[in-house]
Amino acid sequence: MHVSTGDILREAVKNQTPIGKRAEEFMKRGELVPDEIVVGIIEERFRQDPPTRGFVLDGFPRTLGQARALDAMMWKFRSAIDRVFYFDAPEEVVVERLAGRRTCRKCGWVFHLKFNPPKRAGVCDQCGGELFQRPDDNETTVRERLRVYKEQTAALIQYYDEKQILTRIDGSGSADEVYAQLEKALGT
Ligand code: AMP
Repeated sequence: MHVSTGDILREAVKNQTPIGKRAEEFMKRGELVPDEIVVGIIEERFRQDPPTRGFVLDGFPRTLGQARALDAMMWKFRSAIDRVFYFDAPEEVVVERLAGRRTCRKCGWVFHLKFNPPKRAGVCDQCGGELFQRPDDNETTVRERLRVYKEQTAALIQYYDEKQILTRIDGSGSADEVYAQLEKALGT
């Protein structure tokens, strides 16, 4: 089970649900959506699919408050987070990757203008759908997201390091290089 809070929030914004309407402005500005909303999304997801087998959380937790709420949920379900991966890359690498990212509107496949370009500009290789740029992937908003990361998320590195479940992955290389490190860390 793969749970991405960013994907769930973008879907909620698209459908203009009550959560989507509340989250939209924060996301546009590159700020974090308030903990109570994001924690509620994860709780709801776990109610539907209890986290008793393997699962991957992507983009969650992003604050200490969310990490503590997650610990409480794990306790409730008699489950546990056994690994946390920290993908570390220099700021300029992150900016170039996100500003060049393009996503298929139809199937969600992700391209990059330079590192993984589609065969035909603006068209998805997988399904022929239209490629678009996420509104928060423009350079100004990416820099704001990085500022918010340092202010609110970076503290989680220490939090999970102290629990001895943090694995640092050098995220600065190619996708294949990063993937190889992840496989090694997982022992696959
Ligand atoms: P992502 O797709 O993970 O890059 O997330 C995109 C945006 O969704 C973020 O910039 C936040 O505005 C919001 N978001 C996603 N996950 C979280 C989270 N765990 N806590 C707060 N906001 C989040």
